[in-house]
Amino acid sequence: MNAPQPALASGLLDLAGDFPILAQPVRGRRLAYLDNGATTQKPQAVIDAMDAFYAHSNANIHRGVHWLSQHATDLYEQAREQVRTLLNAADSQEIIFTRGTTESINLVAQTWGQRLRAGDEILVTGLEHHSNIVPWQLLCERSGAVLRAAAVTDSGELDMADFKALLGPRTRLVALAHVSNALGTVNPVEEVVRLARGVGARVLIDGAQAVAHQAVDVQALDCDFYAFSGHKLYGPTGIGALYVRAGILADLPPWQGGGDMIRTVSFEGTTYADGPQRFEAGTPNIGGAIVMGAAIEYLRGVGLGRVAAHEAALLAEATERMTALPGIRIVGTAPHKAGILSFLVEGIHPHDLGTILDTEGVAIRAGHHCAMPLMTHFGIPGTARASFALYNSSQDVDALVAGVRKAQKLFGV
Ligand code: PLP
Repeated sequence: MNAPQPALASGLLDLAGDFPILAQPVRGRRLAYLDNGATTQKPQAVIDAMDAFYAHSNANIHRGVHWLSQHATDLYEQAREQVRTLLNAADSQEIIFTRGTTESINLVAQTWGQRLRAGDEILVTGLEHHSNIVPWQLLCERSGAVLRAAAVTDSGELDMADFKALLGPRTRLVALAHVSNALGTVNPVEEVVRLARGVGARVLIDGAQAVAHQAVDVQALDCDFYAFSGHKLYGPTGIGALYVRAGILADLPPWQGGGDMIRTVSFEGTTYADGPQRFEAGTPNIGGAIVMGAAIEYLRGVGLGRVAAHEAALLAEATERMTALPGIRIVGTAPHKAGILSFLVEGIHPHDLGTILDTEGVAIRAGHHCAMPLMTHFGIPGTARASFALYNSSQDVDALVAGVRKAQKLFGV
């Protein structure tokens, strides 16, 4: 589907031209968009897919006898297959479309979670995004289960000794990020799954920061649930997916009730659809799912191996150049990191830094990154975070470094 992808002499990808928004000046400056952890920009292929769906294929799905409805249904189910391929799931019937990572995790908490009882334990890590903490706290309030959190080391890695100490026969679920959105740490998810299996616990992986940055294989990982969002994957907002291993999905109670999730309805009793449809009540985000499929195709055309290499090179360059500046503290120094650089500049609050960088056309994120327990661990209110995507370049790193220097001069630090 995609033309051969341009690469620079350095081996870095050169794909900014695929993304129209990147050509748009911001505050009169060239845009250096380094807020990809929050959301990614969309390539023309994805924007075109959105137009094409509403211009040629729009109809409601699964119930229509007419051609357009069948066509839209085919495209929607094709998108499910594209997600299956992205995650290398065994069967597309293991893929539930959701609004995104947050909804995927809440779905697990509210369906699978119904089986938890007082005294059962859920084990997360100190690196989690709030959306992989709060749904479990709500579940614990309902069920009497207990939430435990494994400690984080000074380098921002999961403390495996603490994790092993907390994992035990009461642990029913281990829920952890594949990649930390706040620090970029890549968690040792394979080892975590292996250890969790040893005590009979289920494993949920929050893949929000992983799927667009490295190849994911849920069969090799052997996890039970895998959640992600389309908008962090060059696709639209309001759509994402949840992988649920087939044997588990078959036993999950329904979640929301409504059209499309039933087999038969009567006042005497209702029976429910099999497979992912049981969890997709009402008219789903049909266009969103199909356009997310186009984003997955775009990403596959580039190749996740090349994306990972590109972002690793940019992270290394940015880390080296930022570390060479005075007064910089990198927060999160794990040896295995994805393309996220969290840092502090001595004497400048991250929000002030973010505002000054903005005047230079550099978009970063400043704050707690929805990971307040992690910030508390480091004893800081937040960090400045530059997060990389396949369209970023050394020029963006130049703009970041120059912007930080400017802020230091302005603050006299
Ligand atoms: N988990 C992680 C690691 C994230 O980075 C995010 C978003 O930043 C989420 C979950 C929540 O994703 P969403 O807001 O798309 O549901």
